[in-house]
Amino acid sequence: MKPETLAIHAGNLYETNTKDVTAPINLSTTFLRDKDGGYSGGHMYSRVSNPNRTALEKVLANLEKGVDACAFSSGNTAGMTLFQALKPGSHIIAPDDMYWGFKKQLQTIFADTLEIDFVDLTDTENLHNFIKKNTVLIWIETPSNPLLKITDVSAVANIAKQHGLTLACDSTFASPSLQNPITLGADIVMHSSTKYIGGHSDVLGGILITAAHNELWKKIRNIQQIGGAVPSPFDCFLLVRSIKTLPYRMQGHSENGMALAKYLDQHPSVDTVYYPGLSQHPQHEIAKKQMSSFGGMLSILVKGGVEDAVRVVNKVKLFAQATSLGGVESLIEHRASVEGPDTKTPQNLIRISAGLEHIDDLIADIDQALSS
Ligand SMILES: *Cc1c(COP(=O)(O)O)cnc(C)c1O
Repeated sequence: MKPETLAIHAGNLYETNTKDVTAPINLSTTFLRDKDGGYSGGHMYSRVSNPNRTALEKVLANLEKGVDACAFSSGNTAGMTLFQALKPGSHIIAPDDMYWGFKKQLQTIFADTLEIDFVDLTDTENLHNFIKKNTVLIWIETPSNPLLKITDVSAVANIAKQHGLTLACDSTFASPSLQNPITLGADIVMHSSTKYIGGHSDVLGGILITAAHNELWKKIRNIQQIGGAVPSPFDCFLLVRSIKTLPYRMQGHSENGMALAKYLDQHPSVDTVYYPGLSQHPQHEIAKKQMSSFGGMLSILVKGGVEDAVRVVNKVKLFAQATSLGGVESLIEHRASVEGPDTKTPQNLIRISAGLEHIDDLIADIDQALSS
């Protein structure tokens, strides 16, 4: 079936006595055992599995064209679970422009157990120079945060295969609707479901999706079930509900993202626009090849310095000045001050998450904020 159909139906798992059209929320933490000790209802204890989480995992495995998925209580936990599943002493290659939360994890929580190189992954050939005897994982993020760099997933997948490495892709900015890294050769796809998958800025969650049932995936499932950083049945229900409109929301986010990027690109107060849909974006051709459209995330460098950027984010009225992304409401933020003093993000960078408001209202608002 096509993604629009799967998004609506793949998470509707079972029939109830009351003949519900959409699945109810199962709050029970424990499930009845049969006389022979079995669990014919399919669930034993809700940390291990529960109907709402199974529904969420099923619909996302389907949409990403994988074979299985593990849902977590946040995107950070999803990524951390993969890092925890690696043998101590393993070497990871990660992008220099990695989502800062993961960079922090690798530099603090895993500083003593994993070896990490942060590499410019837009230069695929460069990758060979960093592969060592103990390298086990290449982690990519495309489009990346906050510079919207694009990594060629197929090209990196070829290198990973040559060397027997696992390729994981943080695909949060694309959502399962704009690209499917598994079809391009990735082994594991990660999303912060807090973003586009949830889409309404009211659920925190994360997901890993796998291309194969293998030893690494068994470890990941074990950490999920024994570690227990799982989303609640209510959170899972909300996400399954949100996913039904994901393909159409992504069309709207992409249209607004493209229109804002084009508008800002010709604005006299803007120096640079980072958006993979613009033809001057350095990896535009790769983006065109691996994405169906370019999403609602863009960053701009305003002319001037930190004060000029801060003035703009303080002056908008319709955009909410807040971190995060992927909701129906447009957000704007001065990224460097969110990431803290050791950030490499330019001080005049503003990150925008284009929501689903009418584009004329968004442009009018950003225009009045830019013209001081
Ligand atoms: C938000 C985000 C994460 C982390 O997810 P949380 O749900 O906030 O824990 C990871 N990667 C990217 C690209 C993100 O935008």
